[in-house]
Amino acid sequence: MTHLALNPIYAAMPVTVFEHMSGLARSLGAINLGQGFPDTPPPAALTAAAMRAMETRSQQYPPSMGVPELRDAVAAFYGRTQGLALTREQVVVTSGATEAIAAAILAVVGQGDEVLLFSPAYDAYAPLVRRAGGVPVFVPLSPPDWHYSEAGIRAAITPRTRALILNDPLNPTGSVASADELALLAEIACEHDLVAICDEVWEAVRFDGRAHQSLLGQAGMAQRTIKIGSAGKIFGATGWKVGWLVGDAALATVLAKAHQFLTFTTPPMLQWAAAEGLADPGITDALHAEWSASRAVLIDGLTADGFTVLENKATWFACIDLPASGIALDDRTFSERAVREAGVASIPLSALWEGPEDSGAGPTTILRLCHCKPPAMLEEAVARLSRWRESL
Ligand code: GLN
Repeated sequence: MTHLALNPIYAAMPVTVFEHMSGLARSLGAINLGQGFPDTPPPAALTAAAMRAMETRSQQYPPSMGVPELRDAVAAFYGRTQGLALTREQVVVTSGATEAIAAAILAVVGQGDEVLLFSPAYDAYAPLVRRAGGVPVFVPLSPPDWHYSEAGIRAAITPRTRALILNDPLNPTGSVASADELALLAEIACEHDLVAICDEVWEAVRFDGRAHQSLLGQAGMAQRTIKIGSAGKIFGATGWKVGWLVGDAALATVLAKAHQFLTFTTPPMLQWAAAEGLADPGITDALHAEWSASRAVLIDGLTADGFTVLENKATWFACIDLPASGIALDDRTFSERAVREAGVASIPLSALWEGPEDSGAGPTTILRLCHCKPPAMLEEAVARLSRWRESL
């Protein structure tokens, strides 16, 4: 057989934990509380807007930076909900937030540049940093409150540190950086001249009653922050793959160059529909109410059955502490067995963990479950997990 010199970063890599668990759930017919997506269609008004756009407007390449209506709508949405003063020139539409993350990393990270990541971290960050020639440097966050440690961050910074990637609110833990932590991260970024790549796709999925605050709004951060958002998360339409990058106009121009050679552009009918959705607070309010209710069904059901659920302030996810729930399995074993034996798919938190070389493994006994599902499905999942736990 011919030896093909494929890139070892990908050759040695497994498929993502999300793809793995969703594949198992599909083939086994399990309830899928693993990969995060709602089981109900997106709001009817959004679907109608997309169909109307498909029938009456262009289906050809839109501008690479996005249709003006969506770029304006993103700027207006962040003005209304987060007090940010933005213009269309500061918005680049992408094919989902993962593409936005890739474009941001390619635009910022060069050979040998170090990039601070906080563990647990979304699984795309480190491979993309490595593929860009950079070196991920992990700063661990500790359960149960996933606090950002000033000493930990300062110890990880070297003269090669070029950027940090902040995911706030944080997937998989559902935690949110405090005002003090945002101020600290801004101070350190300014002090060390770092670019902050901020994955804020969970900004509209908060349950702590607070408005989302972006690192972009902190003193000194306007010129060095790349803020990433997702229509898929805001509207519960994950398959749409509509996301965006927001930054200072000079930064956005460079980000657009990285984006133009990834997907170049994003289906225009979905962009126009997302623009209509962002302009209608009724749509986002209704979704928030639906997710608040489903979240309560999962968390209350698990708690009533004796599972220990960690505090959750945001995201579609709730985490269970396995030992505190009387389960003596590590998270990966639990997850692999539960999908087969209990018929419930989940995500082991350790699949999203890489630590600094010398710190060993991170937490290995925390399980992530997705709550944006119909209540009956969540109740059945809790019943299955409870019955199965008895048999362990
Ligand atoms: N963001 C999704 C989650 O955490 C996964 C997205 C994906 O599968 N690439 O469940």
